[in-house]
Amino acid sequence: MMDERKELVKRLLEYGYIKSENVRQAMEKVPREEFLPAENRPYAYVDQPLPIGKGQTISAPHMVAMICEKLQLEEDMKVLEIGTGFGYNAAVISEAMGKKGHVYSIERIEYLAELAKENLERTGYGEKVTVIIGDGTQGYEKEAPYDRIYGTASAPFVPEPLKEQLKIGGRLLIPVGEQAYFQDLICMVKKSETEFKEKSLGGVVFVPMIGKHGWPEK
Ligand code: SAM
Repeated sequence: MMDERKELVKRLLEYGYIKSENVRQAMEKVPREEFLPAENRPYAYVDQPLPIGKGQTISAPHMVAMICEKLQLEEDMKVLEIGTGFGYNAAVISEAMGKKGHVYSIERIEYLAELAKENLERTGYGEKVTVIIGDGTQGYEKEAPYDRIYGTASAPFVPEPLKEQLKIGGRLLIPVGEQAYFQDLICMVKKSETEFKEKSLGGVVFVPMIGKHGWPEK
């Protein structure tokens, strides 16, 4: 599996998804197979999303690499993730920050959150990633403000609590748009308590972010 991982990282570098050394080494170190149900482990290094149960997916490796790059992570940052899934992206973010940073990750489906905790413990990220069960569209006030916030599910608009819980100078990445077909990956930089610089990083497809400041549950 290590050889397959190295091969995938090589391709992600060639295609320009990986640009920096910390992201390269994090993608090379975190074993994606440990964040998949047994039946999908043989496909861990195919660059595509895969089912993890409860209608949810693990993000494709190129998307995880792109999110890590666009967040412009530094060593001792406090990061908030909305949508833990099985914990893979949080582990990569944690690894890319080195020894000091911390990731708080919110997952609304308890079954996935519990398995994510197990996966993170087993792979050595249990101390640096805290998994919280709840509605991530409301953020996680207890540890706010955050240097970086990112969503791995798509919302109809950027949830206000996430904007509020971002530090001035901080970055927020979130897919926004139609529920099923096409969304824009939005990057926001907080300039002051009320001003944000916003740009689109292009089209993406994510599962819906369901919650008070997201989509209603069907
Ligand atoms: N970060 C994951 C990874 O490492 O591959 C990807 C997870 S998947 C694409 C998105 C996750 O967001 C799903 O597990 C889903 O249950 C979760 N989700 C959707 N709405 C949410 C909300 N309001 N709060 C927390 N999690 C949410």
